Amino acid sequence: MKCQVCTNEMASVRKDLPWETAEGWVMINGVLHWECPVCGEQVFDRNATKEILDKLNRKNISHKLEIPVLK
Ligand SMILES: [Zn+2]
Repeated sequence: MKCQVCTNEMASVRKDLPWETAEGWVMINGVLHWECPVCGEQVFDRNATKEILDKLNRKNISHKLEIPVLK
């Protein structure tokens, strides 16, 4: 998959993701998604979206969240 921002090849990575919910920001544990190693653009395909919703439903998340910091 090519990055839409910088056209570099994106990598499939599994990482904790900060996610905004009605109750505020939470951290979802280990979600497989696409990430550009060059500009950091993230893409969530259908599987990633399903995994995110699934983990939200099962509360497989962490509420103890530090403010996301840009690298
Ligand atoms: Zn990129």
